[in-house]
Amino acid sequence: MLKIGKYTIRTLETGSFALDGGAMFGIVPKPLWEKTNPADEKNRIDMRLRCLLIQKEADSDGPAENLLIDCGMGTKWADKHYQMYKIDYSKWSLRSELKKLGLIAEDITGVIATHLHFDHVGGLTYRENPTHPNSDLLPTFPNARLYIQQRNWELAHSPSEKDRASYLSENFHLYSDNSLCGRKTELLHTFSTDPSGKTAFNRPNSKEDTLFPGISVEVSHGHTLGMQIVRISDGTTSLVYGADLIPTATHVRIPFIMAYDCFPMFILEEKKKLLNRIVDEQSYLFFEHCPRTDACKVKRTDKGDFEAHSFIQINELS
Ligand SMILES: [Zn+2]
Repeated sequence: MLKIGKYTIRTLETGSFALDGGAMFGIVPKPLWEKTNPADEKNRIDMRLRCLLIQKEADSDGPAENLLIDCGMGTKWADKHYQMYKIDYSKWSLRSELKKLGLIAEDITGVIATHLHFDHVGGLTYRENPTHPNSDLLPTFPNARLYIQQRNWELAHSPSEKDRASYLSENFHLYSDNSLCGRKTELLHTFSTDPSGKTAFNRPNSKEDTLFPGISVEVSHGHTLGMQIVRISDGTTSLVYGADLIPTATHVRIPFIMAYDCFPMFILEEKKKLLNRIVDEQSYLFFEHCPRTDACKVKRTDKGDFEAHSFIQINELS
């Protein structure tokens, strides 16, 4: 585990899946990406559904917290999806990972959702009877508050043709109803300017919003509008949750941009800015989908690019 200030941070592996390697690496030729991310017979590469559990004891700042950042893709899938995405819970699942730590889903006090794509928040809800697609939908975390950018929340309710298949309302619509989910969803307006020039304001002079002392978010629009990047810091040690801005260690290199990303030139600049700060602050960079590592440090290369190094498995740190 990793200790940052008063927070204890652990990786939760909630399962694995696979996506098309060509879509994951955009314009980068296969001979370059398949060295680190070999493809199967359908050209899919292994991906993890990894999230973070951040725990703190009750103290003068507030009550005890068991926070998640994202929560995997859940179990509301038909057999054809299990096969198409190679979804595999034989080794890990959200509930079994929580159980290992003596926790149940009801203990989760907050979920910081980076964005509402299914592979990040499918785990927010489940079907009472998983084999019946029309059985009642229930919130997985009835005692948690959901933290999401308003920009992304709105987009998820009226997605474009490009990402309609990724925003499935069955994953999040229950969280707009306070009576079902116990704690009201918090829609955030972190300062940012999106690719159309539209600016969101919360505190105009602050580029980051602090959700909890030492836990802040900043907004990235290149992958999808209103995605939030999470930073946990005590001023000495820091960890950045890269979400889909930098989904695997291979994507640390600047031109490695996914075909899924809605605004590639925007993401190019966002990546450079984030990676420069990560290098300057010597932060850990956490990967939600990387099959090779949980997190790493980053360095600049002679060619003006960036490189992942010092891979770590967070749960093996003492
Ligand atoms: Zn995404």
